[in-house]
Amino acid sequence: MGGQESEMSQETWVLASHNAGKIKELKDLLERRDVSLLSASDLSLPEPDETEPTFEGNAALKAEAAAKAVEKVCLADDSGLSVDALDGAPGIYSARWAGEPRDFQRAMQRVHDALGASRDRTARFVCVIAVAKPGSKTRLYRGEVEGEIVWPPRGEAGFGYDPIFQPKGYDRTFAQMSMEEKRALSHRGRALALMMEAEFKA
Ligand code: IMP
Repeated sequence: MGGQESEMSQETWVLASHNAGKIKELKDLLERRDVSLLSASDLSLPEPDETEPTFEGNAALKAEAAAKAVEKVCLADDSGLSVDALDGAPGIYSARWAGEPRDFQRAMQRVHDALGASRDRTARFVCVIAVAKPGSKTRLYRGEVEGEIVWPPRGEAGFGYDPIFQPKGYDRTFAQMSMEEKRALSHRGRALALMMEAEFKA
């Protein structure tokens, strides 16, 4: 009980996600601001269906559902790969393109097949973070990183579509970068930086 009591003076935020990687990354950032973080798994929060047509809509939906369930500041993110020649696909359907069970080899092949002989290979990763507080308007932070789709896939690091995404100005894919290097330029890193700056401005 002693440990919990000493944490009572600390603010506690909730990340509406079960993803261990996202939880760890945010926990580290918030601890530096004296904010402790609980996850959807810690609180057994349900995962609402992502029914909105935009990253913003889905991030807000997840954060607001959590804020309704627990009277705390709740964060959620929604992200994906948006390919220009495919009119933004797979976009909010990025995870779903991998099927069930998730198979990103298949999802990457699907992007490659859909692009066919298209010469336009430009794409971007997008991440929107929503911050919902009971009783106040949800705030949204959007981070993007531009790049191009390469084929064949390269690299072993990262996850999802990383092996076919090469950020602009680099000759390596996200899957060929260290976690720190990717984080410094990624859509999620940028959205997180914007969120931290705005939420903790002096
Ligand atoms: P969600 O935001 O957790 O719903 O995940 C969206 C999907 O977008 C993931 O399952 C990945 O397929 C893809 N995605 C999002 N961010 C990245 C990234 O940094 N690298 C590779 N794929 C990503």
